[in-house]
Amino acid sequence: MDRTYLIKPALDEEYPVIDFGKGVYLYDMEGKKYLDGASGAVTANIGHGVEEIIQAMKKQAGQVSFVYRSQFTSRPAEELAEKIAMAMPGDLNWSFFVNSGSEATETAMKIAIQYWQEKGRSMKTKILSRWVSYHGITLGALSMSGHPGRRSRFIPLLADFPVISPPYCYRCPFNKEPSSCGLECAEELDLAIRRIGADSIAAFIAEPVVGASGGAITPPKGYYKAIRRICDEHGILFIADEVMTGFGRTGKMLALEHWEVTPDIVSLGKGMGAGYAPIAAALVSEKVMLPIRNGSGTIMSGHTLSANPQSCAAALAVMEYLEKNKVLSRVEENGVYLRNLLEKMKASYPFIGNIRGMGLLLGVEFVADPATKTSFPRSLNFTGSIVKLAQEAGLLLYPAAAGLDGVSGDAVILSPPLTINKRELEELVRLFRRVLDKAGRELVP
Ligand code: PLP
Repeated sequence: MDRTYLIKPALDEEYPVIDFGKGVYLYDMEGKKYLDGASGAVTANIGHGVEEIIQAMKKQAGQVSFVYRSQFTSRPAEELAEKIAMAMPGDLNWSFFVNSGSEATETAMKIAIQYWQEKGRSMKTKILSRWVSYHGITLGALSMSGHPGRRSRFIPLLADFPVISPPYCYRCPFNKEPSSCGLECAEELDLAIRRIGADSIAAFIAEPVVGASGGAITPPKGYYKAIRRICDEHGILFIADEVMTGFGRTGKMLALEHWEVTPDIVSLGKGMGAGYAPIAAALVSEKVMLPIRNGSGTIMSGHTLSANPQSCAAALAVMEYLEKNKVLSRVEENGVYLRNLLEKMKASYPFIGNIRGMGLLLGVEFVADPATKTSFPRSLNFTGSIVKLAQEAGLLLYPAAAGLDGVSGDAVILSPPLTINKRELEELVRLFRRVLDKAGRELVP
């Protein structure tokens, strides 16, 4: 390909051209093999080239690929919504299908605001969120994202939503140790609501395990129970952004199930279509739907391709695959296996500061000095270089920022397809070690 007409993330870089994928591997046109240690962007949850999904998509394409949601519903959309309602905890019974994680969080935000409007509380429009968070790239989703790097160019266009500290134990914003932790990060929500006034707040949004902007940051025990209690005490909704964590990434359909907490609204994406089709959703509880059904009777949002039959058929086949192959039941065990392999190698790499995460969503944070937890200078672009070295070595990793501002530190996410086996996990770690050996020689100052 002599020249390109495609806008890619880095305009001056050459990208390998991918030929095909099978299982946990991708192959480029030169025949190079990559172990997909990140499921792309934590998306290809059942691996590549799964025949059942291909067949289900072919079948649907032979019937109908598109109907307009204001004129028709379709069998795959109805079946998918029912299957999701059955699989989700609590009364999260309603699905609003969209096409990307950003649309899902944006829709969740609008539904939360509409809920209060229907109840005659139209001043409740603010969405509280946390620093070190990413909820999407559209302006509404970015307004809720505590990610200064992605926000900076658009600040004048963003809603001025309040932000609290993240539950980032390795760099506790309150300088606590696990032994002295009093869940100050959760209690900050209570303080923020009191200061701002619950009368102006519609909802609090959080990623149960912080992904791209933190590198699999997992909260302390009791955090989400406290968040749920505080939201209820002040009469604000709790939105869980499970775009990355949902659909089994941590071993359960929703990561919040680990803490026995049910949110009012959930955003889903990524693993839902597992990369086979663009599909995402806002899940809505009965509590939130009731005043909307009794009020305007419609949700004031939607896209041309919402509930697209082709995408729904793909997501339905992914769910059936997860069930039939009992994929979720192996995630926790494989996650522990991978984590143990990583912990064993930690001592050989003094620049590994912290290993964290849940299920098959693990983060490795890199530091210049483990004693002081000082990050590498930004000019070094340590994460970017590690990800590049890994790709050269045939291993795909997902870059994440790490640091209390959500931009300044270095981390990678290891999140292979949930279908990975132990031999492939060992290969992943062997490749990762090779990458870190090289980084130790070439990158660490
Ligand atoms: N929410 C979370 C937690 C995410 O990780 C992402 C993407 O990384 C999004 C929302 C946005 O999803 P999308 O890139 O599909 O718009």
